[in-house]
Amino acid sequence: MAAIYVHLPFCPYLCPYCDFAKWPYRRSQARRYVDALLVEIGVAPALQGETVFLGGGTPNALPVEDLLAVLRAVRERFSLPPGAEISVEVNPDAGSFDGFAAYVAQGVTRFSVGVQSFDEAELRTLGRRHSADDIAACVAAARRAGARSIGIDLIFAVPGQTVESLRHSIEKAIALGVDHLSCYGLTVEQGTPYAAWQAREPSAFLDADGEAELYAAAIETLEGAGFEHYEISNFARPGHRCAHNWTYWQNGEYLGLGVGAASYLGGERSVATKSLEAYCAAIEAGTEVPREREHLRGDAAAGEAIMLLLRTAEGVEVEPFNQRYGVDILSSYRPAIGRLVAAGLIIASERRIALTPRGRFLANDVCAEFITAGARTEGRP
Ligand code: SF4
Repeated sequence: MAAIYVHLPFCPYLCPYCDFAKWPYRRSQARRYVDALLVEIGVAPALQGETVFLGGGTPNALPVEDLLAVLRAVRERFSLPPGAEISVEVNPDAGSFDGFAAYVAQGVTRFSVGVQSFDEAELRTLGRRHSADDIAACVAAARRAGARSIGIDLIFAVPGQTVESLRHSIEKAIALGVDHLSCYGLTVEQGTPYAAWQAREPSAFLDADGEAELYAAAIETLEGAGFEHYEISNFARPGHRCAHNWTYWQNGEYLGLGVGAASYLGGERSVATKSLEAYCAAIEAGTEVPREREHLRGDAAAGEAIMLLLRTAEGVEVEPFNQRYGVDILSSYRPAIGRLVAAGLIIASERRIALTPRGRFLANDVCAEFITAGARTEGRP
């Protein structure tokens, strides 16, 4: 079983903080890409699919018939169990929502709406062109189409954001009746217009304490409204966790299709070229899509898995982990575990290791401790 990810990299416009593989939508370029993608799907290993995620980019920037062709090809190639979760990312400002019912008729069960904020000033800061009304119309269209789950993505630590404005956005999302909410801290990525802005005006961006205050407000508001905080950045109403992303956090297998898409199969992690031209040209020439590959073994594989599992509310279940990675986590990482428990960042028992509520705020530091500990033990006899 593998999760299937398909990258649809076109957007109506480009946001200044984004470093995904994405291009402004042009009809001829998108047509060429979809043709190449359909070829790649048709010759991909015929795996047993578990879930499907059409991400981007902005999948609903494509003409409806193109997105439906991709969906059909995926469903033909990978035998999905009945009722399998099929998610599609949509943006509220990518034209009309007329295609949503057709997506659902083709098996889509879940819409993930890229909202970022309900605050008009924050939306402008983020370079987004939609309004709070557009978001409501998009969510309503997804609901009318018959989607089983609707999720919203928000960003916190936007320059100028306050605890009150973040709470306002979350409350607006809750009022729309969404089932899932992802709340990501803004990351300033190298090479983006935001990186240039931060270099010019660092004081416009929140420091770690400011970010932590916003994150705490998000957790309190969402848990207070009955959402389960099941992963560091993700909250769900009961029964609405994202099964596709759950596979990533469990270090499960996934196949990525399309430009820049990542795969993890048989212990090999690989990432396809991020060049649209190289991707299309390789497929048109009947050659393999260029990709970077790495094999994770031993402590590196275990460290990576710990990093992913600790993101979840369940954390690392000791016995299954030991069996899968051939280690004894409690003894291999004893000093690191001792330090983190003493600092109040994790709890550790014979059964489970998990972040404490305080540890969620310092998850990167916790993971770094495990990775460093793994590196120190590498090469042991
Ligand atoms: S819509 Fe999403 S993928 Fe496209 S540029 Fe904006 S953040 Fe990036």
